[in-house]
Amino acid sequence: MYCLDRDWAGVENLSLIPGSVGAGPMQNIGAYGVEIREVFCELEAYHIRERKVYTFSLNDCAFGYRESVFKKKYRGEFVILSVLFRLHKRPVFNTRYGAIREELDKMGVQELSIRAISQAVINIRSSKLPDPAVVGNAGSFFKNPEVAGDVFARLREAFPAIVGYPVGDPADSVKVKLAAGWLIEQCGWKGFRRGDAGCHASQALVLVNYGHATGSEIYDLSTEILQSVKAKFGVELEREVNII
Ligand SMILES: Cc1cc2nc3c(=O)[nH]c(=O)nc-3n(C[C@H](O)[C@H](O)[C@H](O)COP(=O)(O)OP(=O)(O)OC[C@H]3O[C@@H](n4cnc5c(N)ncnc54)[C@H](O)[C@@H]3O)c2cc1C
Repeated sequence: MYCLDRDWAGVENLSLIPGSVGAGPMQNIGAYGVEIREVFCELEAYHIRERKVYTFSLNDCAFGYRESVFKKKYRGEFVILSVLFRLHKRPVFNTRYGAIREELDKMGVQELSIRAISQAVINIRSSKLPDPAVVGNAGSFFKNPEVAGDVFARLREAFPAIVGYPVGDPADSVKVKLAAGWLIEQCGWKGFRRGDAGCHASQALVLVNYGHATGSEIYDLSTEILQSVKAKFGVELEREVNII
């Protein structure tokens, strides 16, 4: 919102991702076709044991899909103090992903702007994702898995409605990202509830705590979901969340 107010473009697709700026690089937050690495310049982080401040360039962070050196290699070692972004004064709009175009049409937007895109993203997210202030959740619990092109072809033969889109450099071997939410839904978990642990009724990728579920109950449910997706599709899901 701070960037929108100043007409600085680049993070409008990330509207409504809850959290602090310092946590952003931790898992290279991303949504609607944009990841923080695309506007990232550098960050300063404090090494807890050495009591020293280090500067991390884009390369140093080794950003990947919901990954960075802070999430795995240096887990628990650094506190991110500040992040420097390189934003655009002239916007490069990204409306390819998800239902952004549809929502912009619904909103009657004639001229594209970062504000319009932000509002479209906010509308879509609010309609699908549970508000953590109302019902406990961590957003997407699982990553969308990537499979080789030939694996996808085989899966599509067996499951013609499977949702996937190509990723990476087409010159390399083709990889397809599958919609984990769709896989989970097909295993019958959408809307499932056991005690206070459940799988959200509008977005199967989100596990929810209706009140007093323990961490183990949520974790066990996630394990059952992983196992059933593996059994039905032969696809290994990975948890996006950090397990403490
Ligand atoms: C409803 C909902 C929707 C979400 N949608 C998305 C989405 O679309 N895309 C996406 O990428 N994520 C999404 N998330 C996940 C979450 O918003 C992000 O991971 C966010 O970056 C978490 O920020 P936080 O400040 O709450 O960090 P926390 O959850 O408190 O911390 C996350 C991790 O980062 C570490 N950390 C936090 N701050 C720092 C720091 N300054 N230095 C070092 N380590 C730190 C913590 O130790 C922890 O390991 C969603 C979550 C919810 C609840």
